[in-house]
Amino acid sequence: MEDARDALDRLDAEITQCRRCPRLVAWREEVAATKRAAFRDEEYWGRPVPGFGPHRAPIAILGLAPAAHGGNRTGRIFTGDRSGDVLFAALHRAGLASQPTSTSRDDGLTLTATRIFAAVRCAPPENKPTPLERDTCAPFLHREMREIAPDLRVVVALGAFAWAAFWPALRAVYGVAPARKVPFGHGALWRIDGAPALLGCYHVSQQNTFTGRLTPGMLDEIFARAKQLAGLT
Ligand code: SF4
Repeated sequence: MEDARDALDRLDAEITQCRRCPRLVAWREEVAATKRAAFRDEEYWGRPVPGFGPHRAPIAILGLAPAAHGGNRTGRIFTGDRSGDVLFAALHRAGLASQPTSTSRDDGLTLTATRIFAAVRCAPPENKPTPLERDTCAPFLHREMREIAPDLRVVVALGAFAWAAFWPALRAVYGVAPARKVPFGHGALWRIDGAPALLGCYHVSQQNTFTGRLTPGMLDEIFARAKQLAGLT
């Protein structure tokens, strides 16, 4: 029987070949061809970006989508951009990442007990997928959550888009739904028996980290709470 590691490898391979959203396929490939000047000598990934981290992960971090010159360039989620710098530094302080930086797929970074993925796997123009693109990509998230479900205890949603993407995944994988709409907030926590907890965190975008809306201390509190919910402390 196929184990979770094999199933995730197969899913990752399938995701990287996907061309279901014409607008996003065109955009990711155009960005990969035109490049940003600072990366003109690099070969861009230019494809959908799969999840990253071990198959046994009590903590999941759910983002929005890869960045045009970050994940879409390097092929690894939150890798090679300022958002990732902030996120992986925090994960390293929390003991969940082997190093504080994430620069390329072969930089040696490993995660402990944590898997990172996005609600939409292709970089969207202006970081804004359409509702149709979000729904078209959702089955990949649901499959990935299903594969790690036996160990999964908490999902950290980075921003309101990821928070909203969690509920259909919860219904699809666990067959449960909240009784009423649960608003997103930094530090907001939703829990129910038999499913992972959902913990809200402001997105690690430059818009939030440069303005001080999200500080390293606030991220440390979120990951300390996530570890506690995951039974790691
Ligand atoms: S966003 Fe998702 S469904 Fe759409 S092309 Fe990319 S991987 Fe495929």
